[in-house]
Formats: sequence, structure tokens, C-alpha cells
Amino acid sequence: VNANESPSKALVGAIAAEEVTRTLVELIRRPSPNPGGTEADVAAFVADYCRGLGLDVQIVGIAPGRPNVVARLRGRSDGPTVVLNSHLDTVPASSGWTEDPFGGSVHDGRVWGLGACDAKGQIAAMLAALRALVESRPSLAGELVLTAVIDEEAGSIGSRAVARDLGHVDYAVIGEPTRLEVGIAHRGGVRPRIIVEGKAAHSSMPDLGINAIVKMRLIIEGLERYAERVGQRRHPLIGPATASITMISGGRNESAIPDRCELILDRRMVPGESEEAVVAEIEAVLREAAARDPELRVRIDGFRPVSGPASETPRDARLVGLAVEAVEAVTAGARIAGMTFGCDMSHFRAIGAEGVVLGPGDIARCHKPDEYIGIDELVMGAGVYATLVHRLLA
Ligand SMILES: [Zn+2]
Repeated sequence: VNANESPSKALVGAIAAEEVTRTLVELIRRPSPNPGGTEADVAAFVADYCRGLGLDVQIVGIAPGRPNVVARLRGRSDGPTVVLNSHLDTVPASSGWTEDPFGGSVHDGRVWGLGACDAKGQIAAMLAALRALVESRPSLAGELVLTAVIDEEAGSIGSRAVARDLGHVDYAVIGEPTRLEVGIAHRGGVRPRIIVEGKAAHSSMPDLGINAIVKMRLIIEGLERYAERVGQRRHPLIGPATASITMISGGRNESAIPDRCELILDRRMVPGESEEAVVAEIEAVLREAAARDPELRVRIDGFRPVSGPASETPRDARLVGLAVEAVEAVTAGARIAGMTFGCDMSHFRAIGAEGVVLGPGDIARCHKPDEYIGIDELVMGAGVYATLVHRLLA
């Protein structure tokens, strides 16, 4: 018997399907749609669960009524710090549900509800992993920190704050639905709001005004050329960077020359692109357009919230190797992948941690009606988390 093998098997064996299912149902029954600022109830449940395991639990207010939960399990000796991080918020319920999005019904081997797959299922799996680690008492070095954070679906103020407060983390495992593929790279985003200002006039005398909607055409053309350029930047795991105009509005009155037009650019970044450089590129596009038309007045008026920049962890990092081993210990095989979505890994990379995005469930089932996760997926996810933490802190 391999010495490393038996503790892992014991840990995986300690994951009870009924327990992880019951936990997820409780999480789903505490709605936390974002926007909404309503994570307090589900945070209290996670905090109580962790206190019940004897962990040192902090509830950290980030915004009014919106706390992160930080729960610590200290090892018996010094060693690295491992973070299991996932998010308490969900997107709002879309239309078209046939299940109750907040009911947490269980049938066909699945748990149904908003957040089942993104990311309450990952939190339930992490809690089950914590329970297995506490109850089977392998000797751990260092420290395990569960961070259940607010606001990942908007501006990620939760993970930004928790990473800043922790200051130093060696390994961060970000719970998102990756089908238990080991995500080592993910996209990031920047969403500027671009304003063109014109001059209002009665529309019977258009020459007295400056039409902000028409002037925006120059910006759209510039951004389209920019999108072609950034599309050349390809990451081997996650494909190209993108720049898409996703919203536009202008005009106040059908008989007035519009004095204002605004658009939102959804700029998806690949690892290697920085927020500062991308904003500078967009500003250059606006400047070039303005240089071609003295009447064009354009500026960036702030940014819509996004989860953060892109990031990646080298393939040969210790965390990546052990994550692959942990997945292989529980499932038929492991695959390294890149995530086309944004997530909170970048905030932990920013403080020097190695990071992976790893969790049960499939992103294709998320942000749409009748979200679900398989109970078998939950159990495997919990087994992977427990095995990985054990190997990192052995
Ligand atoms: Zn998510």
C-alpha cells in the first residue's frame, strides 16, 4: 500500500453524500442574488457550520449587510497557508425556471436551484472536505483557510478584501464549476463606460447642434479595428482576447439633437495583459478618433464592476501538480485547462499565491434556468478538495 494513498482513500471515504447534499440544499434556501447585497444569511450558515467543526471563524463586514466568512483550521506545526475560496453570491434568477430557484429540490440524483453549480455546490463540497479533514484528523502542517466571499458575480469586492487582509497565501484553490478540470489560467475583464458629448438643438435645426449619436460612429469604428487587433492575442488554453461593444444609449427626446451618447465596451483580457495597459490602449483609440474630428468630445466615465484581471499559474507549479494528483486519486483522470470566464484567482495571484480554479459542476449549466449539480459530482468534488489540502499540508 502506498503511504500517500491510504489517507486519501480514508478522506474520500469520509465524504457522505447525504451530508453534502443537505448542506447544499440549506445554502440554496438562503437566496443571495447579486445585485442585491443579500449574502448575510448564507454567510451566517457557513459560519455556523465551520464553528460546529471547531474552526476559528471570523465574519468580516465588507459592505453593509455583506460579510465574508473566513474560517481557519490550524495544523500542528508550521507550514504553508492554503486557501479554499468560493463565492456566496449568485446571479439573479433568470426567467424560465421550472424548479423553484430557492427550493433546493433533490431528484434524479441532482440538487436543483440557483447557485447549485455556481458556486454554492463548490462551497458545500469545501465544507464537506473540511469536515472530513477535521474528523479523520490527519496530521497537517501550516494552515487551511476557507474564505467564502461576497460579490464575485459583480466587482469581487469580497476576494479583493480577503486577499489584501490575508497578505500572504501560498496556495489558493478557487471553487468554480470546472468539471474537476484543473484550471490554471482564466480570462479577466475591463468594462469602460465611454461617453460622447455633443450639443443639443431643436431637431428642426440640426446644424445648430452636434449629434452625439452620430459622433459615436467614429468611436465604434475605432473600437472595431481595436477588436480585430486584440483578437490576435491568443492564449494557448483560453483563446483570444476580445473587445465587444455590449450596450449603447443616447438621446433624450425624439425632436432634439442628442447631446450625449454612451456605450459600454466589454473587454476580455488574456493572461499577460494588464488592466493599466488595456485602459491605455482604449484611451489611445479615443484620442485617435478625436484627432480626426475637432467636434468629437469623448471620454471614459468610469468602469462597470468586473471580477478582475486575467491570471495564470505556471504548469510546473507545485499546486498544479498536486491538484492533478488529487483529481486522479478521485476520478478517472485529470485534465489541465483554461477558463474563458473571469474568477477570483487573480486576486490571490496578486499576493503571490499559486492558484488553480477547480470544482465540480459545469459552467454550461450556470446563469440559466434549472441549474443543477449531480450528487456524485459534489461527492467527488469534496473528495478532491480534501485530498488536495491533505497533500499540500502533509
Ligand atoms: Zn462563480
